[in-house]
This record gives sequence, C-alpha cells and structure tokens, in this order.
Amino acid sequence: MYSVGETYARALHRVGATPVILPPIMQAQDCELLLLRLDGLLLSGGEDVSPGYYGEAPAAWMGGVDAERDTAEMLLVQAALGQNKPLFAICRGHQVLNVALGGTLYQDIAAQLPNTLDHAYVPARPMEQLVHSVTLASDSRLAAILGGVEFKVNSAHHQSLREPGAGMRIVAHAPDGVVEATELPDYPFCLSVQWHPEAMVKTDDAMLPLFAAFVAAAGA
Ligand code: MN
Repeated sequence: MYSVGETYARALHRVGATPVILPPIMQAQDCELLLLRLDGLLLSGGEDVSPGYYGEAPAAWMGGVDAERDTAEMLLVQAALGQNKPLFAICRGHQVLNVALGGTLYQDIAAQLPNTLDHAYVPARPMEQLVHSVTLASDSRLAAILGGVEFKVNSAHHQSLREPGAGMRIVAHAPDGVVEATELPDYPFCLSVQWHPEAMVKTDDAMLPLFAAFVAAAGA
C-alpha cells in the first residue's frame, strides 16, 4: 500500500486544488511527464533522507529511510524546478528539497545540536498541537503570505537543515536557532517549512494562507 496523510489532501482541497497522490516508483522520464500534467508539487512529511545524498554515512541516531521514495522525490524536485512549477515542501519535503539543491542536514538535532528544544515527534501528542514559536524574516515571502513574523507551530522532526541548498534563503528559525523554513527568492514560487501546516489547519486557519498561496501560484 502507498499512503499519505489525509490532512495534506484535505488542506489542498479546501483552498481549491484537485490533489493527486503520486506513487514513489517514478524514474526521470515519468517525473518529467507527470509534472507536465500537474500545476504544482507538494512534498509531504515522512522518514529520513538517505544521508548519502548529502555526502554522509548514516549515523547511529539516524531514523529509517526509504531509498525508492528518495529517488522518486529527488527526480520530482528536479522535474518541477526544470518546468518552473510551484513547489511547497513540508517537513521531510523541506529536507528533501534542501538536499536536492545540494544542502545538508543534521542527522539528529538532539545528538548534534545540544541545548535545543525538543522538536521530535511525540506519538501521544495531537499533530496540530503547538510546540514552539518561529520567527520569520520580515522581508520574506513567507511573512508576506502569513501576515506576520512570529507564529506558534507544531513540531514533529528529529532532523533539520544544516547548510542551505543552492539559491535557498533561510527565512524562519525556532528560538533555539533550528532552521524552520526556506524559500527560493529567484524562483516563481517555492516555499519549504519544517512544521506541519496541513495538521494545524484542522483546528486553526493561521497556516491556511500557505496552501492558498501555493494553489494560487499553481493556478496562475
Ligand atoms: Mn521544530
């Protein structure tokens, strides 16, 4: 079975998109053809990215990986960027996008970044529950879309961005310095966030403009 959290599809559908779920078996040609028929690409959350993509061996504290999904998503990112399609990347997707552009990750925040907040997934905690604040760059597209520079967000990740990929601008941090969002200033529309807006919009609309802006860009 291939699956994706229903909250991604519901959030997109709520703001006017017709969501399509892609199986992670595509090769380069499949991705090129798929993207020709799609108006945008949303990269969802999930397991860790294979660290070989950023030149590291797996550390002991790494989580599980899915090599087939890694391959497909790296190719999807390249195809989307090659066609100037809007991109919106969430959690794992935010990390995939960074690595696809040549960036690197911390394989585990708790092990490699001492004195940081606990950003990790807690099974018993509702996904929409707010965990820490983020501060946005005031001149970022992200701040313009959300209409502010300070937000409370959820958190369900044990890895985070280290060096940003080519052309990426880091536009949000948690209070402990952990990177929480990026954008590509020289690209039509590309946002990535480490938190889970698709879960937050179940109970609060503060993050709904992210989906609306992505879908508006896709519709254009
Ligand atoms: Mn976090």
